[in-house]
Amino acid sequence: TDRLAGRTALVTGSSRGMGRAAAIRLAEEGALVAVHYTSDGAAAEEVVASVEKDGGRAFAIRAELGVPGDVESLFGALEADLLERTGSTDLHILVNNAGVMGGVGPADITPDQFDRIFAVNAKAPFFLIQRALRNMPDGGRIINISSGLTRFANPDEIAYAMSKGALEQLALHYAKALGPRGITINSVAPGITRNGNPVFDIPEAVEQMASLSAFNRVGEPEDVADVVAFLATDEARWITGSFVDATGGTLLG
Ligand code: NDP
Repeated sequence: TDRLAGRTALVTGSSRGMGRAAAIRLAEEGALVAVHYTSDGAAAEEVVASVEKDGGRAFAIRAELGVPGDVESLFGALEADLLERTGSTDLHILVNNAGVMGGVGPADITPDQFDRIFAVNAKAPFFLIQRALRNMPDGGRIINISSGLTRFANPDEIAYAMSKGALEQLALHYAKALGPRGITINSVAPGITRNGNPVFDIPEAVEQMASLSAFNRVGEPEDVADVVAFLATDEARWITGSFVDATGGTLLG
C-alpha cells in the first residue's frame, strides 16, 4: 500500500537489523527514506538498492552518533539530500533505532563505557528529536526503539536498560508538548530479535531465547518493523506517549 506516500523518513542505524527492516517497510508504504549508518556503507547501499528494486525511494547518509557534532553532521547530509529530492527539508517521520548494547556486566563496566551507552542510546535521540522538530510538519511521527529490558530483569545489562529507561521518558513528556501539532511520539520495545549477532547461528541458544516468547520463537526484524510502520501511519493518530510491547509476549512472565 502507499499509506506514507509523500512523506519523508529518517531511520537511524538502518544498515542492518530492525532499522533495515523498518526502512524497507516505510519505503514500501511510499515514504522517501534516509538510511542512516555509521560504519557499513556497503550494507546501507544494499538497503537502498533493495528499496529501489521494489520501486521505492531511499538514500544513505553516514554519521556517527554519540560524539560531539553528531546531530549537525547527520542533519547537514539529510537536509541536502531531502532538498535535492523533494525541494523541501520537511522530515515527517523520525525513527530513533540506532543503539548499542553493553556487553559488559555491572561489576566491570567503566565510566567511559557507561557514558558511551548513554550517549548513543539516550542523548543522541534527545538531540535528534530537538533538531528534527525544526523540520517536522504537523502530523509528524517520532518512534523510539527501546527494549523489553526496561521491564524484564537482566542483571548483565543494567546500564543498557537504564539508557533505554531514559529513552522511554521522551515519549511520555514530548507527547504532551507535541499533541497540539498532531505529532505523535511512542516507544516500541522489542524482545530478543534476530540480528547479525553470531549467537543466532547456535541452535541451542536460539531455542533457549525462543522459549522466552509466548510464541516460542525469536523475533524477526520484520516483526518489529511492521509495528514501527503502523505507528508511522495516519491510522495510529490516536496513539501517543505509549510504550508498545513488541516482545512477542516475553513480558507476560
Ligand atoms: P544492530 O545491532 O543489528 O544494528 C545497529 C545499527 O545501529 C546499525 O545500523 C549501526 O550502524 C547503528 N549504530 C550503532 N551504533 C551507532 C552509532 N554510535 N552511531 C550511529 N549508528 C550506530 O541493531 P538491532 O536491530 O539489533 O537493534 C536495533 C535497536 O533495537 C537498538 O536500539 C537496540 O538496542 C534495540 N533492541 C534490540 C534487540 C535485539 O534483540 N536485537 C532487543 C531489544 C532492543 P553500522 O552497522 O553502520 O555501524
